[in-house]
Amino acid sequence: MGPAWSFSGERAMAIGTALPYRRGMTAIRNIVILTGAGISAESGLATFRGPDGLWEGHRVEDVCTPQALRRDRALVQCFYDQRRAALNTVVPNAAHRALARLDREWPGDLLIVTQNVDDLHERAGATRLLHMHGELNSALCEGCGGRMRWTGSLGDSPSCPACQAPRLRPDIVFFGEVPYAMERIEAALARADLFVSIGTSGAVYPAAGFVQVAHHNGAATLELNLDRSDGSGMFDESRLGPASVLVPRWVDEVLGS
Ligand code: NAD
Ligand code: ZN
Repeated sequence: MGPAWSFSGERAMAIGTALPYRRGMTAIRNIVILTGAGISAESGLATFRGPDGLWEGHRVEDVCTPQALRRDRALVQCFYDQRRAALNTVVPNAAHRALARLDREWPGDLLIVTQNVDDLHERAGATRLLHMHGELNSALCEGCGGRMRWTGSLGDSPSCPACQAPRLRPDIVFFGEVPYAMERIEAALARADLFVSIGTSGAVYPAAGFVQVAHHNGAATLELNLDRSDGSGMFDESRLGPASVLVPRWVDEVLGS
């Protein structure tokens, strides 16, 4: 029996016990992948905490909470209008493309759960994808509750196409709000043979707890991140390095190419 994918390499750093030794990928059928801001960093989108603990110069409490929206709606709308506009200046990187290839070619179940609000996974071609924290290119109506694709600005208080109320907000899950599609995510985690976390700091719950849920359900767990995250100790293995290098290499291993 040889390993289907190796757990060593010059960039790799094993933490904790190695994943179970497997022949081919036949033992692993259902894969759940969680991605965070780190996978989009090399496309030019700043990560959340960044070196200075801010998101594009703003404190999280000022742009990422329901209280902030109530307190200074103009600031929050302007912040997300800028983030939305910035999507036009970036393109998917090798890590997004590799996951899209895995999505196309992997014969088993696959679910990419992203915490990211950018659209780089789908622009790379991924389809088995969930945005648990919402999307920049979507608006949420506080009047009728409708969610709609929205690529323009919201700062000028446009009317909701469904109910006409001028109450559209970014369709972003703020701190204190419930992420989208949790039932579907939990069902996928319950069936997962392998859980992979990519480019996330492991600081934001409930996503940060997925590794424990997956492990508890018997899945092998692998982390691909630039540096050790808060949750590194919970993974069977952590590989450290840039996503644009680690992710394509891992996908090659999984697909046996
Ligand atoms: P985070 O900013 O807290 O952590 C990013 C992680 O990625 C860090 O552990 C860092 O070491 C790692 N990283 C940085 N560059 C990397 C690279 N090149 N390759 C691999 N890893 C790299 O991000 P998070 O955990 O996703 O934080 C959560 C919140 O931030 C999410 O709710 C998300 O909505 C929001 N956010 C999204 C975006 C986006 O959509 N692109 C950007 C910033 C923040
Ligand atoms: Zn409406």
